[in-house]
Parts: sequence; C-alpha cells; structure tokens
Amino acid sequence: MSSGMPRRTKIVATIGPASDSPTTLRAMIAAGMDTARISLAHDAMEPTIERMGRVRQAAEAEGRIVGVLADLPGPKVRAAAFPEGGVTIAQDSLVELVAADDGDGSTERRIAVEHPPLLSELLPGDAVALGDGGLRLRVRDVGADRATATVETGGWAQGRPGVALPPGRTSLSSPTDTDLRYLDALCEAGVDAVAISFVRTAEDMVRVRKAAGPDGPMLVAKIETQEAVDNVDEIIGVADGVMVARGDLGIRCAIEDVPHHQKRIIRTGVAYGRPVITATQMLESMLRAPTPTRAEVSDIANAVFDGTSALMLSGESAVGLHPVAAVATMAQVAMRAEREFDYGTWGRSLGRQQSVEVVGAPAGVRITAAVSAAGWRAAMDAEAAAIIACTNSGATARAISRFRPTAPVLACTPSERTARQLSMAWGVTPMIVDAQGTTDDIVWFAVKSASDRGVVRPGDVVAVLVGSPTDVEPVTDVLRMVRVR
Ligand code: PGA
Ligand code: MN
Repeated sequence: MSSGMPRRTKIVATIGPASDSPTTLRAMIAAGMDTARISLAHDAMEPTIERMGRVRQAAEAEGRIVGVLADLPGPKVRAAAFPEGGVTIAQDSLVELVAADDGDGSTERRIAVEHPPLLSELLPGDAVALGDGGLRLRVRDVGADRATATVETGGWAQGRPGVALPPGRTSLSSPTDTDLRYLDALCEAGVDAVAISFVRTAEDMVRVRKAAGPDGPMLVAKIETQEAVDNVDEIIGVADGVMVARGDLGIRCAIEDVPHHQKRIIRTGVAYGRPVITATQMLESMLRAPTPTRAEVSDIANAVFDGTSALMLSGESAVGLHPVAAVATMAQVAMRAEREFDYGTWGRSLGRQQSVEVVGAPAGVRITAAVSAAGWRAAMDAEAAAIIACTNSGATARAISRFRPTAPVLACTPSERTARQLSMAWGVTPMIVDAQGTTDDIVWFAVKSASDRGVVRPGDVVAVLVGSPTDVEPVTDVLRMVRVR
C-alpha cells in the first residue's frame, strides 16, 4: 500500500464530561474521531441533543464530516449512585443487596439495585457482577427485605454501575418504553444512528425499526448477551450496523469466548455489508495514563486484522484524563496495522461467503452483491486509482467497502445525513455532491468532484459504482470504468 493512504478503520469516541467542550471536541476530530457516540445510559434527552449540536458545530469548524451515534440504555439494571468520589468494596466482605427506593444511594456495605423485583429473582449461590465485571459477588441468602452476598472479587465502585443479574431469570426485554421515548426524540432531532442495547433477537430490532419509521436513523445492534450471539446472523440481517459490545459480553458469556465471538460477529457483519464497531476497554489504561499498554496496542491491531470497520473508545474519551491522546493513539495503531492487513485474501474469501448468503435474497440485494464484487475485481485488475460509489442511502458504498479494496473508496452523495452515516464505514471517504437526474450525469459529476479535489488525476482509471437514481429500493446496478481526462 502507498504510504499516503489515509486511515481506513474508523474511530468512534464516546462523548462525556471529559470531552464536552468545543475545544476538546475539535481536537478529537482533528486527531481522528469519525463518529461521536452519545450514551443515554448516563444522561437525559435534553443534554444529549445539546451534545449532538456541539459535535456538529465542532465538525463544521474543523471542515470534517462526523456522524453521531446515540446509544439507548436498554433494560440494563443499575445500582443507585455510590457516594461522590467512589468507594472501595473490600474483598471477602459481606454486602447487602436491596431493591432501591427513591432517594436510596449505594454504599460499600449496602448496594441499592434499581430493579424492584430484585429479591424475587435472586437465589443463594447466584453470581452478581458490577460494572464491567471488576466486582463480583456471590449471593449467600435471600430474605424478605434484603439479600446478603460475599464479595469474591473486591474493587472500586463509583457512579451508577451496571448490575449483571443471573441471565434468563429477569423478564426485561429490549427495547424498553424509555428506549422508545428516547428514539422518538432522537428521530425528531435528526440523529444519524442509534445503537440498541441488549438486543436478543431479530424481532427486537424489527420493533425498533417500526417505531423509527422508514426515514429513521441507522440502527446498530449491540451484541452483548449470549442470546444475541446465538441469533447473530438473523439480528445482523435486519440491522444497519453491529457492535461487538465486549463489556457486557465479558460478564454474560465465558470471558475466554469473547475474542472468538468478536471474530465471528465481525466476519458476519462485514459479509452482510454492515459496519461493525469493536467496543470497550480498547485503551482502558488511558483513563489515567497518557500512554497505552502493550496488550491494548495488540488488541487494537488484532481487531483491525479481524476486519473491524470501526474501533470504539468508551470511558477513555468520555471521562478519562486524555481523551485526545486516546483518539490519536487509536488512529496511529490502526494505521500501522492496516499496512499488514491481507486485503487480497479478505476480498477473495468474502466473495464466497457473500454468494452463499445472498441465495434467495431479494433481487436488489443479489444485484448489489454481484455488481460490487465485479467492481472490486475490476478495480484491482485495472489498477484503479480510486473506487467511486455514487449513493443516496450509503448502501453502494457499504457494499464495496466490505471487500476491503486497496484503492481508496470515495462515496459521492447528495445527502448530508448519508455522508455522516458513512463515518462508520471502513475505508469510505464521503463527499457531498449535487443531485443529478441520470446515471450518466451522476458518474460524470462524481469523477469531476474527485478530480477537482485532487483525489484522482488525468490518466487515472477510476471504477465507478452507481445506484439507480429512480429505484425505490437501493440497488447498485451499474459499474463504469472511467479514464480521467
Ligand atoms: P455500553 O455498551 O458501554 O453501553 O455498556 C458496550 C459494551 O457493553 O461493551
Ligand atoms: Mn453494554
């Protein structure tokens, strides 16, 4: 690969108190943040909309296209807040678990769980994890107004950590009523993408899709339970993107399974042309330290080798001491790993996977699969300087991106929202162009814009993929090989 190639793997960074100021947001965008994730697990609707506005302003000021991914809380059970500054919960100590009443807080001896049926769902011997699993309790006995538990792994608790209760016993389902209320407001505010937490089945995604309506945001399914892992093909089939949510996966599945779930979720997501975000603890030590650990650097590089579309920062950018350095580190490690990626093998083996998966799919899907595969091969054989995907919905760009072509991919779209949504797609540089009426004009103006911006030069060959401008269902049905004059 040429050394002038821009970074292909996208970076999603969670925005929080550490990264909320316009200055920090601009610095994070300059360092490589492509998508800003705003989690509704910790904040209400109003501050979220304001945050989205600040991200858009910062992107504009930096002259960059940045997407916003709002993350719905889902049915996650949380502990009531621990005292300001956090507490240490001592190893081998005994703690009480109670169902929280309004105004209750948690302490190092008494954890108030915000889940009214708590005591009817616990049995002696149950394991309960707090936060990302750093704290583990074992239930000893369950009484009428409290349960007692032994602290098997002690540690630090702060804020309102998640509480992982034994799977299968709770009746909580996703999306929750709160999720659907948030979704309404987010659609109204014109958010680019929404992540759905604790999805269990494809039907969960379909319910969110119905609520969002036909012009709704991209829907990203968070795979964070064993049930979702078991149903991952069906879920990905009806989602627009997918997240390997390693935080909750690591508590709810055997932790040694997580790297293998990661590989499978990435391969499946990419085969379907869905962006895949690999998330959680990628640079955890940078919450405090200015530099990463060796293990974290290896983890990021391996996620790139697994084929991930995007890498995510969570607490590192939301509440850490070094949000900008975390983004810069992630960008640097990803770029280096991209130089070693085996692009040819990826594209060739993907061709086989995809041809199996599209059997019986609607005609539009089969045509897009065939034409984008032809475009990938033609770009290689003709040594194309670039692949241009002309796209309204973004589907054409995502279809070619899944092959991980070595030539840069430019997505020309008249839609600003589509451009922002492509900020999660691997290797795609979005460009906003005027809408055109015919396929010929679309191709001509796209090549001209690329050439005006210096991306292609006279004499270059460019592979252009075009979605039909009139079809209701997005379909990529034209491949044109163009010599730039
Ligand atoms: P969360 O999701 O950060 O919203 O919990 C990601 C994960 O579980 O890894
Ligand atoms: Mn989670």
